[in-house]
Amino acid sequence: MTKERMYKYLFGPIPSRRLGMSLGVDLVPKKVCSIDCVYCEVGRTTQLSVQPEDYISADKIKEELSHYLQHNQAPDYVTITASGEPTLNANLEEIIAFVKQNEANIPVCVITNGTLLHDKKVREALNKADLILPSLDAATEPVFRKINRPHKEINFEAYIQGMIDFSAEFNGEIWLEVFILPNYNDSKEELLALKEIILKIKPDIVQLNTLDRPGTVTNLRGASRKSCKR
Ligand code: SF4
Repeated sequence: MTKERMYKYLFGPIPSRRLGMSLGVDLVPKKVCSIDCVYCEVGRTTQLSVQPEDYISADKIKEELSHYLQHNQAPDYVTITASGEPTLNANLEEIIAFVKQNEANIPVCVITNGTLLHDKKVREALNKADLILPSLDAATEPVFRKINRPHKEINFEAYIQGMIDFSAEFNGEIWLEVFILPNYNDSKEELLALKEIILKIKPDIVQLNTLDRPGTVTNLRGASRKSCKR
């Protein structure tokens, strides 16, 4: 009988509405991120960074993945995410390539805030995945600063252009997630500007999301269905 093993960097598989049974891989410690969203469910960003680093070695992740995949039923997706931003792990490309080489039938999904997509190396790493779920919450720099509170080196125009460039290069699917937050990004002007940018990114799917758990600042509230139909 196989002894149940606890994993440090894997979680689930959890049933996901979007991805079926999804095995999560956590690539950076809590809470390393390039931005500090007001709605973040993980908590405040304690290490605001734009520099990919060896936060968790590829060997450690590969060892856990090998063990899991040898002893368990194959999940519907391997989902690379983090208690922060997974593209900040410099070993991302090696980890995706490892899953694709060993389990070609299991699609790899990466959930990212997309702010590092201006970096060619990050785009090349993500190009090895099958599905990317990037976020876009703002169409203008002031709203980006208010809702996403980015690292000072993140240039808003470069972030948007990175998304557009990646979408043009990528052969897999892009499901763009837009978080609607009343009093932050739900003005008519901002929503129309968001639409213009989304038309340039050309994602396969746009998913609207809103707050259902507390964020990192008080007095946030979720958008109602009625306000989303405006
Ligand atoms: S990108 Fe994700 S992890 Fe980072 S602050 Fe925003 S919601 Fe939290």
